[in-house]
Amino acid sequence: MATASGTIRRLDEVVVNRIAAGEVIQRPANALKEMIENSLDAKSSNIQVTVKQGGLKLLQIQDNGTGIRKEDMEIVCERFTTSKLQKFEDLNSIATYGFRGEALASISHVAHVTITTKTADSKCAFKGNYVDGKLKEAVKPCAGNVGTQITVEDLFYNISTRRKALKSPSEEHAKVAEVVSRYAVHNCSVGFTLKKQGENTTDIRTQSKSTHVDNIRTIYGPSVAKELLEIQHKDEKLSFKCHGYVSNANYSMKKCIFLLFINHRLVDSSSLRKAVDSVFQAYLPKNMHPFAYLSLEIAPQNVDVNVHPTKHEVHFLHEEAIISSIQSAVEAKLLGANTSRTYYTQALLPGAPISLDSKDEDSKSSKSCGGPEKTYAHHMVRTDSKEQKLEAFIKPVNSTDLTEILKNATHPDNAPAKTSTDGDVMVLPSCGAQQKRRPVKLTSVLTLQEEIKENLHKNLREMFQFHKFVGCVNEEFSLMQHQTKLYLVNTTKLSRELFYQLMVFDFGNFGLLRLSEPAPIYDLAMLALDLEESGWTEADGPKHDLAQYIVDFLKTKSEMLTDYFSIEIDQDGNVCTLPLLLDNYVPNMEGLPMYLLRLATEVDWDTEKGCFHTFCRETSEFYCFKPSLFQDQKKDSTDPQEEESGSKKSWKWVVEHVLFSAFRNLLFPPKTFAEDSSILQIANLPDLYKVFERC
Ligand code: ADP
Ligand code: MG
Repeated sequence: MATASGTIRRLDEVVVNRIAAGEVIQRPANALKEMIENSLDAKSSNIQVTVKQGGLKLLQIQDNGTGIRKEDMEIVCERFTTSKLQKFEDLNSIATYGFRGEALASISHVAHVTITTKTADSKCAFKGNYVDGKLKEAVKPCAGNVGTQITVEDLFYNISTRRKALKSPSEEHAKVAEVVSRYAVHNCSVGFTLKKQGENTTDIRTQSKSTHVDNIRTIYGPSVAKELLEIQHKDEKLSFKCHGYVSNANYSMKKCIFLLFINHRLVDSSSLRKAVDSVFQAYLPKNMHPFAYLSLEIAPQNVDVNVHPTKHEVHFLHEEAIISSIQSAVEAKLLGANTSRTYYTQALLPGAPISLDSKDEDSKSSKSCGGPEKTYAHHMVRTDSKEQKLEAFIKPVNSTDLTEILKNATHPDNAPAKTSTDGDVMVLPSCGAQQKRRPVKLTSVLTLQEEIKENLHKNLREMFQFHKFVGCVNEEFSLMQHQTKLYLVNTTKLSRELFYQLMVFDFGNFGLLRLSEPAPIYDLAMLALDLEESGWTEADGPKHDLAQYIVDFLKTKSEMLTDYFSIEIDQDGNVCTLPLLLDNYVPNMEGLPMYLLRLATEVDWDTEKGCFHTFCRETSEFYCFKPSLFQDQKKDSTDPQEEESGSKKSWKWVVEHVLFSAFRNLLFPPKTFAEDSSILQIANLPDLYKVFERC
């Protein structure tokens, strides 16, 4: 029909519906959400979703719900047909997801829809094809189970602009998976599956009758599932309830995962999301976020139910008050349960009354302003460890110097300096470190690696990553600063753990520390047996027999010792090399005799995992940095010039530049460090200010 200009024409009804439908259904995930809600309304306990090309080509949902009666099939896809709402007043107390009868109609205006359904009292299933809200032809009887299968094909086949506006199928698939995941976590009594058509494996599979936590584990992984805190909160005054799970302070990730259901509808509320996220900012590393799943039940009359289907963003009455009530509930839970609090409170030195206060204040202020926790300039003790170290203020007295030993402690690239440590053992670096890495395939070792990772204390890790080294107190303790707090760190304990972890992670890939002369195990074992530490008594038999046994035993293991641990033992029973665990670090050779003795007697040689575990532990005991047994024989190097040049490396240089640098980059601090006083908070600048104010 030709159009006279200026004439206003009524749009064709089909076009109107199509435009409206395109508004409601903007992408496959929207359509799926509506269909899942229908299946849940129909009391399904199992919902299977199959997609092709992210749902653009095919989006199919199969449920085992009540089904649709044959006589209703004619009209299910018409607009405003619903079995769920009779009068407008019902809107206020609606308990089901749908209420406008708009979803199926909209979908059928922008895609080819096929419904196959069977109710319990019907003898067979029925199938109907729909276009633009209407049945294409009469429904046909067919075989089928009780429940409903809805197939949506070629979504937006008739709206090319929408088709083009959509992102890639893989992005649409991700959105679809997100919708399925979230409904699966929320509706844990219902089993969900998501799979791509033609593929046998499922992307998502949850069991019916599982728990919220089960499904979080299945979908979002065990690492988050084991760090969850349950939130259970009720506010009579604001007439709402909140139940859910949030990750604790041990867990964080780059992007906040926030699952929100209000009255069992998947929605979004950016104000609530930001509010919850901000509670965590005081507890998590910078730019890291929590996982949160919250289900709110708000008096229906207080929720704006009539939001447009595409507007996932909801608003509700008393929004601000409800949000801050939820924030307090989450914060209380976090404070009460997270291990970092245990850490802050337990890691206190007696007589140093440092409380969590500042932490609390910080989190509260960040809550009220909604911004990230900030360290103000006046909170900074200093910002760069290079500025000034402890040495600048105090002159070391009577501390030991590892210089002599460390002359040997050289990187393979450095010119080897040949020095004797105690006359028996000489160490020369060797150039074996830079070989191609061998992948480790042993399950036992991989398990040990996994255990270390699982046992990581995230906050401590972040503390070490961003610490500033302050100085050595003595050979056992050092001071470091993180943000406004000063910590006393047990260098010995930390290095023991570090070397254990290096043993486990570099397994089979160590460089060689070559002794300048092969060292006789027999003599070393005799030395060890003379030490009180060995616990030798006459009942153990003559020392020389034991020493010989140790030589023979270690020789039988020599192939494995060389291959896995870079410990070479020659035919004559001499140790020739030791593993190079860290550049510029050589263990204190005074510990070598005990090490060899313990390798023969303390390592669990019977089981693979036990063997590697105890072997690595024994080695870390030997390598860890500890006060020298022969302290007084050595003098400290105090010449800073010499220190910096590296020609003569003092033990302090090693602690700062080798060990603390490895603590920063390589260490996975275990959770126990938060509690066993390996690290003690001894001062907090804001608290010190308070002290000064009182003066
Ligand atoms: P609403 O959910 O708002 O009622 P819909 O367009 O989503 O509207 O669905 C229309 C009607 O079709 C529903 O009221 C329900 O009676 C029926 N229906 C849709 N999907 C299913 C299903 N999976 N199982 C049983 N009935 C269904
Ligand atoms: Mg519906």
